Amino acid sequence: MALYYPDDEALERLRLVGRGSDHPLVRCQGFIFDVDGVLCRGEDPIPRAAEAIERLRRGGKRVVFLSNNSTKSREDYLAKFARLGIPVIEDDLVLSTYATAEYIAREKPGAKVYMVGAPGLRRELELAGLELVEDPFVAEYVVVGSAFDGTGRIREDNAHRITGALRALYHAGAKFIATNPDRIFPAKDGVIPGTGAIIGALSYMLGREPDAVIGKPSTHIVEIALARLGIPPSGCAFVGDMDTDMLAGKRLGMTTVFVRSGAMTEEVLRSLGIEPDFAFDSVIDMLAVEG
Ligand SMILES: [Mg+2]
Repeated sequence: MALYYPDDEALERLRLVGRGSDHPLVRCQGFIFDVDGVLCRGEDPIPRAAEAIERLRRGGKRVVFLSNNSTKSREDYLAKFARLGIPVIEDDLVLSTYATAEYIAREKPGAKVYMVGAPGLRRELELAGLELVEDPFVAEYVVVGSAFDGTGRIREDNAHRITGALRALYHAGAKFIATNPDRIFPAKDGVIPGTGAIIGALSYMLGREPDAVIGKPSTHIVEIALARLGIPPSGCAFVGDMDTDMLAGKRLGMTTVFVRSGAMTEEVLRSLGIEPDFAFDSVIDMLAVEG
């Protein structure tokens, strides 16, 4: 039995049958999708990814999209998803910018935050009701995201911020929070530094690791996505193209689905000792599982 059929009548029959199916993917009610390598490669949509999402939703499944992107707000991502042909509202998006803001707002509502990073991060911190401060000596939290633009140049408004963050951590005893642990990114002319460049600089200077890293493979961001789904992890699947996706899903007891449409080959994944529950060429193939 296929997981979903394209026509509604067949879908209706299958949903009834599907409730009795033993296939773990048919039983899953919630799906967390990584974005790059799963739904798109950069700006190019992965063929039939939008159709797969639509069919899952029509089948009554709940879907959220999760990305370690530390430079964009959810608002920024609405346009990206429109280009991919996947209808979303902001509540469907869990980016590391938003998840970091949520994490701090839950721990200390209205906290004073000194940030290193892009305007998208600033926007989410503000939306969560946190107080952005320019004086490092009054900061309760230092939040670190990527401070580089797409060409690898440090953003002008961040030139003084590594010093500011250092002072907030050293003098003011601020908590050290990183949006994501990604060290480098591929770009057109070669790799560029990721958030890891700033984490590394501060960690080395101070001899301490961040108090929390929110993005994958940490479970913080996934817990926020699961809360959004409102379904226990045992009833949810994590669909991704990297080891970090599989690790984050496994740590929380989710079903893990690897797709071969992204940056990492299945061979490399398995050589790292990571066994996904299922592997498919791309997301559309996931819908054809037999149960
Ligand atoms: Mg990915």
